[in-house]
Amino acid sequence: LKKKTKALTKKAGKVEKAAVLGAGIMGGGIAYQSAYKGTPILMKDIAQDGLNLGLTEASKLLSKRVARGRMDPLKMGEVLNHIVPTLSYSEFGDIDVVVEAVVENVNVKKAVLAEAEGQVSENAVLASNTSTISITELAKGLKRPEKFCGMHFFNPVHAMPLVEVIRGEKTSEETVATVVAYAKKMGKVPIVVNDCPGFLVNRVLFPYFGGFASLVKDGADFQQVDKVMEKFGWPMGPAYLLDVVGIDTGCHAEQVMADGFPDRMSRDWKSAIDVMFENGRFGQKTNVGFYKYE
Ligand code: NAD
Repeated sequence: LKKKTKALTKKAGKVEKAAVLGAGIMGGGIAYQSAYKGTPILMKDIAQDGLNLGLTEASKLLSKRVARGRMDPLKMGEVLNHIVPTLSYSEFGDIDVVVEAVVENVNVKKAVLAEAEGQVSENAVLASNTSTISITELAKGLKRPEKFCGMHFFNPVHAMPLVEVIRGEKTSEETVATVVAYAKKMGKVPIVVNDCPGFLVNRVLFPYFGGFASLVKDGADFQQVDKVMEKFGWPMGPAYLLDVVGIDTGCHAEQVMADGFPDRMSRDWKSAIDVMFENGRFGQKTNVGFYKYE
């Protein structure tokens, strides 16, 4: 992996200033990580509430570092100054990389990406943090599809090392190289993958969730399955992981996988995951999923 991404780095454009579109769970995390690792970032949202949420998250993460003695309080102010919240595109002219992290809706994303493309310089690279939408499809509304690729972070952004860099049909090698370089600058481990439903990680993860669902259907206790997988060496079991990811997010991604790989990924029975979803038990975000949270 290291050799491959090292060779790519030579083709990378500069990444001195970045921007993130959407200041939600992911956008806030991306802004924090970028600023923390030294790349100033504009954080744009359509709502002031969204911006406040993103900034609060970043402050919380930094305060924890300071409280644990892992960061000088002066550095905390410096990092926060490197996150510039905004509701407009007025400062996008000299941005090198824009990461789109708005809601997971193909039409909204296409509109936002086209809008952003019109505000940045011709050299700027656009990337989407989509979990499930085809990069080739998102590129269709763009004038410079070669300057666009996927940049898929995992939640929580500050703690998860992997980033999938997804090559769409028209993505250039320079664009991939620039996004790989940015991911590395953020202290992440980028892997370059081709565009397909689930990219790489979810193609491994969702068959695993399917296996978990069929075990429960056959009478297994989900808590026991979690305990077994923890003993096996995984940091958490599948039920707990689904609660962390969000049952709603999981169900949506599962449908995308079933549509993409109907022979391998579709099922004609209702699983415990489907039942959680139908009952609005979305996991930690609603304080109840497979488990109850305070
Ligand atoms: P979220 O709902 O927490 O945040 C979305 C933000 O986008 C909101 O603050 C909203 O105000 C803002 N927004 C909506 N329209 C906008 C626009 N036109 N311009 C600017 N901002 C706009 O969502 P999230 O969980 O952070 O997910 C964002 C993206 O990241 C999605 O594509 C999702 O699939 C992907 N993703 C999410 C996770 C996860 O675990 N949450 C993991 C990996 C990838």
